[in-house]
Amino acid sequence: MHCPFCRHADSRVIDSRSTEDGAAIRRRRTCPACGRRFTTQETVLLMVGKRSGVTEPFSREKVIAGVRRACQGRPVTEDALAKLGQRVEESIRATGAAEIPAHEVGLAILGPLRELDEVAYLRFASVYRSFETLADFEAEIERLRKERAPAPGD
Ligand SMILES: [Zn+2]
Repeated sequence: MHCPFCRHADSRVIDSRSTEDGAAIRRRRTCPACGRRFTTQETVLLMVGKRSGVTEPFSREKVIAGVRRACQGRPVTEDALAKLGQRVEESIRATGAAEIPAHEVGLAILGPLRELDEVAYLRFASVYRSFETLADFEAEIERLRKERAPAPGD
């Protein structure tokens, strides 16, 4: 790690600690040439494995873009999309896995999306769960109705 002040090619770690969410490690470093101190942060790259065998870094933006498509015409704000993206990323990182299959990203989206907008959820689920017939939709809608928390006064 180059010193950001004098570009010296080496530095010494004087302290290492995990960030609060455990997703990264911060290191306090000192430069043996100029003596100045700086902090670096290392994050574990969360990789997503596609069916083709290709892996790519997890992208919260991609999650949000996919959900945004499902939410077209629905009363869902950008703020709500951003929060959903954050929840999805947190739930995936909480598994502690360094690599997860792409379909698990899709599954992690379903829960929060269902709370956000049931119509968008159905659109998204129809793709991720490969609904093929109307009966698939009917079964999912039936499940939604059953599992929906009763409204106050019901
Ligand atoms: Zn230096």
